[in-house]
Amino acid sequence: MKKISLFIMLCILGIFLVACGNTSEEGTDEKEKQEKTTEGDTTEESNTDGWVENITVLTGSEAGVYFPLGVAMAEIISEHVDGVTATGISSGASVVNANELSDGQAEFALVQNDIAFYAHEGSQMFEEVVDGFSGAFTIYPETIQIVTLADSSIETVKDLVGKRVAVGDVGSGTEANANQILAAHDITYDDINEEWMDFGDASTNLQDGNIDAAFVTAGTPTGSIQELAASADIKIVSINEDKIDQIIDEYPYYTKVELDENTYENFDATATTIAPQSMLIVSDELPEDQVYEIVKAIFDNIGAMENAHERGKDLTIDTAQEGMSIDLHPGAQRFFDEQ
Ligand code: GLU
Repeated sequence: MKKISLFIMLCILGIFLVACGNTSEEGTDEKEKQEKTTEGDTTEESNTDGWVENITVLTGSEAGVYFPLGVAMAEIISEHVDGVTATGISSGASVVNANELSDGQAEFALVQNDIAFYAHEGSQMFEEVVDGFSGAFTIYPETIQIVTLADSSIETVKDLVGKRVAVGDVGSGTEANANQILAAHDITYDDINEEWMDFGDASTNLQDGNIDAAFVTAGTPTGSIQELAASADIKIVSINEDKIDQIIDEYPYYTKVELDENTYENFDATATTIAPQSMLIVSDELPEDQVYEIVKAIFDNIGAMENAHERGKDLTIDTAQEGMSIDLHPGAQRFFDEQ
């Protein structure tokens, strides 16, 4: 009898040990799984619930500055934020980008700070409030460059009257800026022959004599103007000081900027103009932890931004809130609060 009960006890012990073994194996699997989801260099200790795996970063024309910087940000995200793949894609720029983020068609976008503000206010080109996105950081001044060929008769904004003028892409911040600058000089589209086109097409058409001038709101040097300046002498039309004061008074997101003669090849003058600021916006649908990790990854790998375009050098933690025109996303807020 004793032998039988000892046998039964041993059996029970055996079953118990096997069960324990299984449990601890399951435990290990679970641990491995957790380690896998947090193994990127930026996602340790993050709660990845609700993270969006495929991220779209909206930029602008390929010949602008948003595009190389947005593609660089997407590469940083894909490489350094575990389990997330990001793609930078070209677009009509600021106004389109704000609308698309609001519609849930993308997660991040580069836009001008003035346009982000108008979107949240439902003013200027936005007939109603366009929101659902917040700020991450501002980057660099986007210089409004009114470009023409050096031998053109256009010397002032007023000289644009009666001319064929590229005012930016449909839905661009450039067009919004063109409108405000023209309006400050009492010029409307009735007074010019306006053409909508991206930066690359504007340069080609200027070179070919199909248009007389082009508005370009972008960081300098802008790729499309560099290309034009490589084969033609160019001129950038200055805005008069009194008009600059008047415009900044009305639209406080502009700041005054000077372009020097080293900005482009075959540009041997200086120009006085104005600039809004570029910024990264992010969909409010993205969880705080994910945005925190993405912003952190971008600042941890800032060299890739600097390599993508000279203006990438303007991105610094200290200046990242200058000109911020809308509330920060909680994930970005947490990152900057920790600095
Ligand atoms: N700021 C420009 C716009 O929204 C785009 C600039 C760029 O593509 O670099 O129209």
